[in-house]
Amino acid sequence: MAQTDLERSRPDLDFWRTLPVKQQPNWPDQGELRAAYTQLSALPPLVTAPEVRSLTEHLAAVARGEAFLLQGGDCAETFAANTANKIRDKVKTLLQMAVVLTYGASTPVVKVARIAGQYAKPRSADIEASTGLPSYRGDAVNDIAVTAQARRPDPARMVASYHHSAAALNLIRAFASGGFSSLSQVHEWNKAFVRDSAAGRRYEVMATDIERALAFMAACGIDLQRTAELGGVELYTSHEGLLLEYERALTRVEEATGAVCDLSAHMIWIGERTRDLDGAHVDFLSRVGNPIGCKVGPKATPDEVIALVEKLNPDHIPGRLTLISRMGAGKIRDALPSIVEKVNGAGHPVVWACDPMHGNTRDVSGVKTRHFDDVLDEVLGFFEVHKELGTHPGGLHIELTGDDVTECLGGGQEIGEADLAGRYETACDPRLNTSQALELAFLVAEMLQA
Ligand code: PEP
Ligand code: MN
Repeated sequence: MAQTDLERSRPDLDFWRTLPVKQQPNWPDQGELRAAYTQLSALPPLVTAPEVRSLTEHLAAVARGEAFLLQGGDCAETFAANTANKIRDKVKTLLQMAVVLTYGASTPVVKVARIAGQYAKPRSADIEASTGLPSYRGDAVNDIAVTAQARRPDPARMVASYHHSAAALNLIRAFASGGFSSLSQVHEWNKAFVRDSAAGRRYEVMATDIERALAFMAACGIDLQRTAELGGVELYTSHEGLLLEYERALTRVEEATGAVCDLSAHMIWIGERTRDLDGAHVDFLSRVGNPIGCKVGPKATPDEVIALVEKLNPDHIPGRLTLISRMGAGKIRDALPSIVEKVNGAGHPVVWACDPMHGNTRDVSGVKTRHFDDVLDEVLGFFEVHKELGTHPGGLHIELTGDDVTECLGGGQEIGEADLAGRYETACDPRLNTSQALELAFLVAEMLQA
């Protein structure tokens, strides 16, 4: 399913090239860029259009208030960290959270990982002030090492990201269908977290409740290993649709239906810095059929958001659009309500999700971090706003890793400022470690039950 002449000749899919486009690398050599584009367009897609439609249907259930969305993974994946163990541990953490949230919400949890393609980052400056070199824009663009050679934007890295994504996806698909992700297996991991860590022990009551629910199902004759719904999971992929050459090259037209999908991932989101109504990113992603996310920061006005919603989902397709607010704990209670009222009042069936990470970044002696209490408080604010307005707090979007890193402060392990240097490994923003991510899941499960 390489790109066909039809795909190559769809002027609408290239209209973005005529618009202002933010956050693209200054590729030094246009010939290299064209070569990378040609290679990518000849490669098979990473996901398929029917999978993309099935995610849209699941997200439509979230929009109706009948399911919950859990989206999470690294801020920036790296080629070096694209290893079997790290992929396994990230998937494991996400699945563990999902089981807890399923119990708390008493509804299905739609699982979307920031994985197998999250290789490009928006940056505040083209040139990094501290080194005078081009900023690191993600492994799809350049290398994080501090040399002029490493930081040179190299389009061949987009092709390398495609191959890294394919390798990761291959493993993820195996995990999702095998016994690895069966409900009983995932619950065993949660029991170990509760039993073996000080951070986990306070969630013993809920873990025991889940245990009872599983025992009840088993007593009713449900085989937790073999029942299709419980023996595996559906795990979808997502990344920020930042590098438009990459996204365009992997966009395909389905022969049978004529549907246009960006098959680099199931869900693609638009970042806070590239969501200009008249910009290239919004135009391009308005033309592909995937579920689209759009970040909404604290300065967004209700008029701005409704214009985006109308452009990105003019046909009011439920599940098509997820608005991911990322306002900061101190702002969400003031900034979110008028936006929800406007969009909801206009009858748009969006998914409301909360990214409690990006509005809560702080600097501790030059180290970027976030405090668990702020993350939790923003989620609480998100639930309060939706409860007040009678809308569905549909999902959570977080940055996490399956490793025991020390990048975010607080949580049951009480990570302090002096601990940050211990295991600070992120290539970009600070991520919740496994323990903090699981704690957040237990606490959100409590909120969902309240
Ligand atoms: C991100 O999700 O890593 C990101 C850059 O977020 P935002 O666009 O909300 O700043
Ligand atoms: Mn980030």
